[in-house]
Amino acid sequence: MKISKYLLPTQKEVPSDAEIISSQLMLRAGMIRKLASGLYTWLPLGFKVLKKVEAIVCKHMNASGALQVLMPSVQPAELWKETKRWDDFGDELLRIKDRHKRQFVVGPTHEEVITNIIRDEIQSYKQLPINLYQVQNKFRDERRPRFGVMRCREFLMKDAYSFHTSNECLNETYLNMRDTYINIFDEIGVDYRIVEADSGAIGGSKSEEFHVLANSGEDQLAICDSNNYAVNIEKAEAHAVTNGSENQEQQPLKAFHTPDIKTIEQLTTTFNIDIKNTVKTLIVKAKEHSKHKFIALVIRGDHQLNELKAAKLDCVNSKLRFATSEEISNELGTYAGYLGPVHCSIPIIVDHSVANMRNFYAGANSDSYHFKGINWGRDCHHTEVADLRNAVEGDRIVGSEDTIKITRGIEVGHIFQLGTKYSESMKANVINNNGKATPLSMGCYGIGVSRIVASVIEQNYDSKGIIWPKSIAPFQVVILAIKYKSEKVKQQADQIYQKLLDANIEVLFDDRNISPGIKFAEAELIGVPHCIVISDRNLENNEIEYKNRANSENNCKLKTDLVFDFIINLTKN
Ligand code: ATP
Ligand code: MG
Repeated sequence: MKISKYLLPTQKEVPSDAEIISSQLMLRAGMIRKLASGLYTWLPLGFKVLKKVEAIVCKHMNASGALQVLMPSVQPAELWKETKRWDDFGDELLRIKDRHKRQFVVGPTHEEVITNIIRDEIQSYKQLPINLYQVQNKFRDERRPRFGVMRCREFLMKDAYSFHTSNECLNETYLNMRDTYINIFDEIGVDYRIVEADSGAIGGSKSEEFHVLANSGEDQLAICDSNNYAVNIEKAEAHAVTNGSENQEQQPLKAFHTPDIKTIEQLTTTFNIDIKNTVKTLIVKAKEHSKHKFIALVIRGDHQLNELKAAKLDCVNSKLRFATSEEISNELGTYAGYLGPVHCSIPIIVDHSVANMRNFYAGANSDSYHFKGINWGRDCHHTEVADLRNAVEGDRIVGSEDTIKITRGIEVGHIFQLGTKYSESMKANVINNNGKATPLSMGCYGIGVSRIVASVIEQNYDSKGIIWPKSIAPFQVVILAIKYKSEKVKQQADQIYQKLLDANIEVLFDDRNISPGIKFAEAELIGVPHCIVISDRNLENNEIEYKNRANSENNCKLKTDLVFDFIINLTKN
């Protein structure tokens, strides 16, 4: 491809609204353009990379025995009403009406459509198991689209759905998909972890996510490589840790005046208190029809509430909702900053690490006062001890001396055993070998194809731009003709370009009459792995310069007649 005929609108400046490196570089390299919030056009260079990712995904999906299909993006609302997701999916679901005022959705996912196909087309257990997949644009009206194509509203996903007559069979396909994903991410060449994930409201039995490790990742992961432990922080168990007070003698309970103190940080800095000796009290809605309307959750001052764990507590509303300031003041007669377990009229659930604290600090449930020297049993009582907090760096893994590290990850894939949720609500049954109609077990397996492009960049860049791994590089080689006007340069460059094209090497040829500085900068920005520089100066010695994008130690000069074989060797291996 000659750049003079290509659309490669590169930019020198860092776009002001691109928050992370991948979105900056994708915009600067002319890979994508923003149309509106969360909507992007893939320009030729970006589209080439996207298609490479897709090809790797499809190659391994096909090898796994999955069959490719293509379902419509627009789906009738009736199907979503059958599974109740019309109500449950919330605002991420884009709802539209056709000219006859019939309701449709723009598909954020395709469980309903595929289950509809299966209930119509599969009659006998003998046709199972089956695993169908597609690669298609999804639309999710994300609350906060951000980070370019990493969290956008319309994005390319590979989604697969498998159907089975037994959970054992589902598990087999699940493991097959897990291996397939390993092959996919190994071939792309990213540093990733498979993490245990929360199966969420869908209520499936098993779910794992594939995360590319990157500081810009939105998810926190608890990992320990020596132990092969990797769990999404949403799900990572957190046990009792001590602040060293459990054997202290009980001190007297004392209130002290704390006007204008709104947060734990203000309390600890103003009164010089170790944050580990404080607790936070959070008020959430209780389960419907319970005796109390609210529940108090107590965690240590330096810990974070894990909202998924809280939502799973029996007495807490499964859609976790925090009490408003008004509700707190009506129920407990104070502000959020002065809450605490002493004189608390509602049930108190404490985290494991709080249950063993002595002589701690908390709000006094009275404006402008805190207590010190609080002790369980003597001053207040809890109704339950539970795991309420996020795991933190240094927490021990259950049954081991190993400790966890917290890192950030980008979810690029998700495999999920759904069980019979959709087949039951949509009556997707088959007659089993005993002649009985049974609902099918189902698995679903997603990969964020467009998100992968951005996440690969998050792991492969330097101050000059992107550094593509060979697997998904848009071009393997870029030829920079320095002064293409020069007859000698033109002849040499044209010849190598043609030879590489004939050898089926993906080559980009900078044949423009522009300054060498811009050519070098752009080639580095777009990250093509191998670069050949052809200039009059080097041709005088019958030489061509080779530059390696990832490792400048490999840069060298080559005799012109050796260049072709040299490049073939590099790109074929
Ligand atoms: P997230 O937690 O990031 O919102 P999700 O759990 O909603 O992801 P799935 O429903 O499992 O995602 O979708 C399958 C894959 O699609 C994800 O693993 C992710 O790679 C990709 N994906 C999901 N939402 C987006 C988005 N808004 N933009 C780009 N890719 C996305
Ligand atoms: Mg999501």
